[in-house]
Amino acid sequence: MVKISGNVKRFGVRYGRKLKQIFGKIEEEQRKLHKCPFCHKVAVKRQAVGIWECRKCGKKFSGKAYTILKKKAADKEE
Ligand SMILES: [Zn+2]
Repeated sequence: MVKISGNVKRFGVRYGRKLKQIFGKIEEEQRKLHKCPFCHKVAVKRQAVGIWECRKCGKKFSGKAYTILKKKAADKEE
């Protein structure tokens, strides 16, 4: 048995649940097809981190690491 101090355990459980929610959302975003910014067909698949490929027009482009959808707040940085 691994002994975990009360403090660490409490923090771990809280943090773990939050992280799971976040990663669950990211995974969902990764798996589904995205809309192509070139041909506007929903046929874009993630090839690697930040690399996306459209299966309709064959365009390959970089985007966000996990989704090509850009949030309004993030746009300001680019
Ligand atoms: Zn396309």
